[in-house]
Amino acid sequence: MNAPELHQMGVAELATAIADKKTSALEAAQHLLARAQQHASLGAYLAFNEAFTLSQARAADARLATGERTPLLGVPLAHKDIFVTQGFPTTAGSKMLAGYQSPFDATVVANLAAAGAVTLGKLNCDEFAMGSGNDNSAFGPAHNPWDVSRVPGGSSGGSAAAVAARLLPAATGTDTGGSIRQPAAFCGITGIKPTYGRCSRYGMVAFASSLDQAGPMARSAADCAVLLTAMAGPDIDRDSTSLDHPAEDYTAVLAQPREGATAAQPLKGLRIGLPTEFFGAGCAPDVLAAVRGALAEYERLGATLVDISLPRTELSIPVYYVIAPAEASSNLSRFDGVKFGHRAAQHGDLIDMYKKSRSEGFGPEVQRRIMIGTYVLSHGYYDAYYLQAQKIRRLIAQDFQQAFTQCDLIAGPVAPTVAWKIGEKSEDPMANYLADIYTLSTSLAGLPGMSVPAGFGAAGMPVGLQLVGNYFKEGELLHAAHAFQQATDWHLKTPQGY
Ligand code: GLN
Repeated sequence: MNAPELHQMGVAELATAIADKKTSALEAAQHLLARAQQHASLGAYLAFNEAFTLSQARAADARLATGERTPLLGVPLAHKDIFVTQGFPTTAGSKMLAGYQSPFDATVVANLAAAGAVTLGKLNCDEFAMGSGNDNSAFGPAHNPWDVSRVPGGSSGGSAAAVAARLLPAATGTDTGGSIRQPAAFCGITGIKPTYGRCSRYGMVAFASSLDQAGPMARSAADCAVLLTAMAGPDIDRDSTSLDHPAEDYTAVLAQPREGATAAQPLKGLRIGLPTEFFGAGCAPDVLAAVRGALAEYERLGATLVDISLPRTELSIPVYYVIAPAEASSNLSRFDGVKFGHRAAQHGDLIDMYKKSRSEGFGPEVQRRIMIGTYVLSHGYYDAYYLQAQKIRRLIAQDFQQAFTQCDLIAGPVAPTVAWKIGEKSEDPMANYLADIYTLSTSLAGLPGMSVPAGFGAAGMPVGLQLVGNYFKEGELLHAAHAFQQATDWHLKTPQGY
């Protein structure tokens, strides 16, 4: 098959081409590995293991030769470097873990491999998934293929950049406070963060355990559905927060017409809530214009728009930036140069060794969060900060339940602006935190949310429409995004030069 066509294909298309013997898993993997090298300056990848990838591809071809057919058999993809993998080193974007080799695979990685996916490598991310621009990676930034002087978003920036640049058809990401949805929006791709607990956290390097959730990033909702079907499912023996909810076939959901739907109005009867707090002065006009354009399309597809309120939206920033650092400070205590992680070469006594190892191993943002987290958990401040934040977290979740009495899905922008220039916010942590305003509340409530390409804003940069559903409504989200993508072609746009 004509090699350049391979990277233009999405997951489903490539799987079909491989199953129909128009190409092979091996040819696809080789082509995409070469393509990744060709675009190495994007900074999307952190690690390859060609021998491992090609042996997985040969194994997929052997399974195909026996007549086996699964939706991901032979499809190449790559993982955010926060998932531990046997075939590749795992760094979590940190010097602390440079050279770390896991003896086991994360459940999500193992699930995708069992479904026949071929792993091309590990993708760049902010250190321990802390960031909004992928500029906190200890191994250098990833670049946005729509404008390489801009951030791809974070923390799953490498995943978003690689999918947008057609280096691969899909990738995994993780979302603690927006890290799937925001980079997907910044790079013009589709991403879904499932309900908390839907995908196993086993083997995901922990940032904030009560928020971390894995999900797929791909060009279309249909491709995300294929990946999520393989990734999700209970894993209660290995992750105590994994939900004992049966696995679902999200691809089947896409094909099911809604009750009362017509060909012209596939979303007839769907009520989409628009939180007033998401459409205020805090959102850039170019982003609002694209989002409103997408919502007008939803109306044409039969959906009704209803005004709702999520009154505690503003509080989600202080609440998240208390709870996430608190959990991070606890999770990251294991990296002490003894149990885990980098050990300083030169040190005095044991305490000095801890100090030097952690000072050398962790970058500035991670150190900042460890300090904030330790502070808000300390005696005397626990009640004032951590406990208060937990109480408001509950109220934020209740606001969503109140909203879902009026609507089926909630929509709004993913981020208040398009992707910013690399370096623009590096010196100002608050500016980064404020840019998370529209994604944090969903995470705090544990709800599923997704980002759908909705057009372009300032400087020709992509804009994402955020859709949020109630618990376990991943299918409904994907269905609504798929219907939109059948009627629009924003998700098919490719950045120039890729
Ligand atoms: N930007 C947020 C943070 O810095 C969210 C990161 C994430 O979802 N991993 O914490």
